[in-house]
Amino acid sequence: MTVLEIRALEGRHGDLVAVRGVSLALARGEVVALVGANGAGKSTLLRTLAGAHPAAAGQVVLEGVDVTAWPAHRRLRQGLALVPEGRRLFGDMSVRDNLRVAGENGRRGPWTLETVLAALPALAPLLGRPAAALSGGQRQAAAIGRALMANPELLVMDEVSLGLSPLAVQSLYDTLAALRAQRRVTMLIVEQDLARAQAFADRLVCLREGRVVLDAAADMLDRDRITEAYFGME
Ligand code: ATP
Repeated sequence: MTVLEIRALEGRHGDLVAVRGVSLALARGEVVALVGANGAGKSTLLRTLAGAHPAAAGQVVLEGVDVTAWPAHRRLRQGLALVPEGRRLFGDMSVRDNLRVAGENGRRGPWTLETVLAALPALAPLLGRPAAALSGGQRQAAAIGRALMANPELLVMDEVSLGLSPLAVQSLYDTLAALRAQRRVTMLIVEQDLARAQAFADRLVCLREGRVVLDAAADMLDRDRITEAYFGME
């Protein structure tokens, strides 16, 4: 069953075409890593999927429903949660309130404050703290917890490990691996570290200049093919 289907999607910033006719489908439970150099269009693609940026052309179909014209909050209810670059928590609000608000805006399902804390135990001692007081790794964990509170079918994460210490990155990936093992959450993640992306994902998709230049099972790829796609050395 297809959770997400992107058809010939185009995203612009004024005259600049950042996403050029991207088509992509994610099956339920699949983990797809989106890679590509700076400016390749990854963030624009994710934001267009989530409804944070308008599509100039093409379609976004979520669980069989065309959501292209829908605002972000409706897509969240349809099952798409975005963990944006920079994480965008409400800084003045406590972690608990950040999670609670997300729960109220999302869908009912297996994820509640209790199950989220069981999956992300590092969050428990932080619940009373304002989000602005958290470290980078803690903020990323809180942002993932917040996304899960909405009971998404599809978790979309931008720049997963950006700005985190190696230890925090490891702990984050341990968490993501546990999530993947526990519940069937489909994931689309942007990861700058190619080795990590390949090790974690079922499938690797590489964007270059707004186009998909590689889309293949992660374990079928050798490093040369990935770097060629990434840098465009043909
Ligand atoms: P990065 O890893 O640097 O975030 P990216 O692959 O996510 O890169 P985008 O941020 O989507 O790429 O950028 C794609 C193109 O769109 C780039 O040329 C970028 O300069 C441009 N762009 C992105 N955001 C804006 C914006 N708000 N206004 C104008 N141009 C933008």
